[in-house]
Amino acid sequence: MAKRVLVSGGAGYIGSHVTVELIEAGYEVVVADNMSNCDMTCFEGVKKITGREDIPFEQIDCCDAAAVEKLFTDYKIDAVIHFAAYKAVGESVAEPIMYYRNNLVSFLNILESSKNHGGCNVLFSSSATVYGEAEKLPVTEQTPRLPATSPYGNTKQMCEDILRDTVKATAAYGAEVNAGAQQLGPVKGIALRYFNPIGAHPSALIGELPRGVPNNLVPFITQTAIGKRECLSIFGNDYPTEDGTCLRDYIDVVDLAKAHVVAVSRMLDGKMKEDYEIFNIGTGRPVSVYELVNAFEKVNGLKLNYKFAPRRPGDVVAIWADTQLANNELGWKAERSVEDTLAAAWAWEKRIAGK
Ligand code: UDP
Repeated sequence: MAKRVLVSGGAGYIGSHVTVELIEAGYEVVVADNMSNCDMTCFEGVKKITGREDIPFEQIDCCDAAAVEKLFTDYKIDAVIHFAAYKAVGESVAEPIMYYRNNLVSFLNILESSKNHGGCNVLFSSSATVYGEAEKLPVTEQTPRLPATSPYGNTKQMCEDILRDTVKATAAYGAEVNAGAQQLGPVKGIALRYFNPIGAHPSALIGELPRGVPNNLVPFITQTAIGKRECLSIFGNDYPTEDGTCLRDYIDVVDLAKAHVVAVSRMLDGKMKEDYEIFNIGTGRPVSVYELVNAFEKVNGLKLNYKFAPRRPGDVVAIWADTQLANNELGWKAERSVEDTLAAAWAWEKRIAGK
């Protein structure tokens, strides 16, 4: 019997790419999403790419403990990949209660049901934002986390800690489950710290669908190129970097999705070295905002309307990943070039614009 993975937030940008890769790797998937930040476009795309019309989809809010509990009762779930969370930094500063409630409660419910149903393997979608403005680059998993500068970033740190503590507390729980009956079991956990996920599936059937004005660089670039936005502002060209713009580690979303599959397999196949593990998921390659804009223009053969603008408050100058642990332990490596990724991002933008 194929193992079944619950993907919470599976109709969203990263969740839909992960669902595709899980299915292509032979896993059964249950997608749960409250559709608060997406529509059915990506889920429909997932069905087309995989040729699977029968992927179970449950429209539930993971903040609803009874609904999560019902999911775990209705399906035998072997692993969870938890994406269901709010992710806009600026909005989290304005609406901290909403962010803490949503991001923490949904994860607590997932963990509670995981522990109550014979234990489970839980993969948490974390972020390089936990490193803040790191003193030494690239950052390794041992680089100290710095105090979060936004409620969003804080929820990532808090959920990592909640997972670590839950793993520790449940380690000695028995794992046998009697048919139908609840039985406490151990939770094992992996936190993947993503750098900057960008791009779209090569089929152009799934990709990022930002609501309103995009905060992130690549959707802003593609929307400017298609004519939805007038001009891209490059935030800051007086940083202490070669060209004065910030450095980031842009990871292709399909590469990122594949990292989830190997991490889940590691848990399910009993290959973990510790019951709670952390991996950086990036390319290990710093790229400046200016370089990224130039690469986008070049690979897609167009000119982008952009201007230099003041620094954006809260941005770190530079961050990129030391990927050795992920490379060696997971046997995973980012493969796509930034050019291919930017071509895929553009193909997706054109598709959703109907061009
Ligand atoms: N950025 C920019 N213009 C934009 C959006 C982002 O110059 O319209 C820059 C931003 O200042 C940062 C980089 O692009 O240096 C990546 O920003 P993004 O919001 O995509 O991700 P972050 O690294 O902040 O998580």
